[in-house]
Amino acid sequence: MGQPPRNPEAEHPLMPDDVPHGPKHGTNTGHGFATRMAHGGRPGVREHGFVNTPVHRGSTVLYPSCEARGALNARSLEQVMTYGTAGGPTHFALENMVAEIEGGTRALITGTGLAACTLPLMAYLSAGEHCLIPDSVYGPTRRVAEGMLKRFGIETSYYDPTIDAAGLQALLRPNTKVLYTESPGSHTFELQDIPALAEVAHAHGAKVLMDNTWGIHHFQPFTKGVDVSIQALTKYVGGHSDVLLGSVTVASEEDWVRVASAAREIGHYASPDDCWLALRGLRSMPMRLKHQYEAGLAVARWFEGRPEVLRVIHPALPSHPQHALFKRDFTGGCSLFGVVFQPRYDVKQINAVVDGLKLFGIGASWGGYESLALPTTQYITRTATDAGVLQGPTVRFHIGLEETADLIADLEAGLDGLPR
Ligand SMILES: *Cc1c(COP(=O)(O)O)cnc(C)c1O
Repeated sequence: MGQPPRNPEAEHPLMPDDVPHGPKHGTNTGHGFATRMAHGGRPGVREHGFVNTPVHRGSTVLYPSCEARGALNARSLEQVMTYGTAGGPTHFALENMVAEIEGGTRALITGTGLAACTLPLMAYLSAGEHCLIPDSVYGPTRRVAEGMLKRFGIETSYYDPTIDAAGLQALLRPNTKVLYTESPGSHTFELQDIPALAEVAHAHGAKVLMDNTWGIHHFQPFTKGVDVSIQALTKYVGGHSDVLLGSVTVASEEDWVRVASAAREIGHYASPDDCWLALRGLRSMPMRLKHQYEAGLAVARWFEGRPEVLRVIHPALPSHPQHALFKRDFTGGCSLFGVVFQPRYDVKQINAVVDGLKLFGIGASWGGYESLALPTTQYITRTATDAGVLQGPTVRFHIGLEETADLIADLEAGLDGLPR
């Protein structure tokens, strides 16, 4: 074993061919979403002609000289290889793709979706400050606000997700630094008027964070006032129920420095193997999502026609209370929605229907290729709005890639077993 090669022409981490030829590098301007997802984040000539970005695993990065070390370390928030935790080619390829999905400039990949929710809260809030979180927030995000944030001296209040600008104005305090949003809300799918709320928050000097996991590319956060967008890549990006990842995307350099510095301080990192799986998932995501969205709508409409059902909660259905916001702000959606059964049924009866389904798994998470049904009635926490948000036993459905007719037949057999 000799010395590591030191020829900067061959080994310098800034060699232009080392940089993934992602959407940011001008390969895809003006093309449609599926085309961009097929062509973005790929390595070009550097990888011996193979189509896909390989998995680059690594902790140590070798520098061509001591002087280069200092110069490169000073640029560690750029897409420059300085040490494993700063990311490598596989991470950067995925970052570029995710930024492209949401119309941001930079994205940071986190080990889970939840880590992507908590990272910007920690990046923007300090002891003595106040944060506003919608009452319909993803449960574990509430848990971190009630646990760690509280312990660090940050106060949170919960607000009605359907609040208007004046309502938000009344909740702002001098020390409110973050307006957290999630639209639609977890389990109950309320939509938020993000542009109106963002305007009020910005006038107050607060940052607007949004969990955009449901909307994916159908809600473009940075054209609607969001400063920091969060996604659980675990869902449709992974798409196969075999990977956990999250992303934090920003549009401004100032926000990038804030979020990326916090990530480095805390030691956030995602495995390049998982990033590679997410990149692979992205290639087919537009088509999976398109199919699943349409199949989900077909199943949701079928539920709406059933006498056992009180209400289907799907933002894309005209029956949704904030459907006008959906039409204004979204270009589509995904295949996750809620079904509220008639109050004449109890949770036990509805759980028995779910237990009897042949094609629907019972489990958390969503966005995979397989259908899921998850009773949610007892798992909904509300502290700021009416606890009776759901008027009957409720089940959250995720529609996968099975034949829609088979799914409906399975559901039909289940509902036919309920007393009229
Ligand atoms: C699943 C989910 C998350 C968390 O993602 P994980 O990768 O499971 O940690 C965050 N927000 C929303 C809205 C989710 O549905």
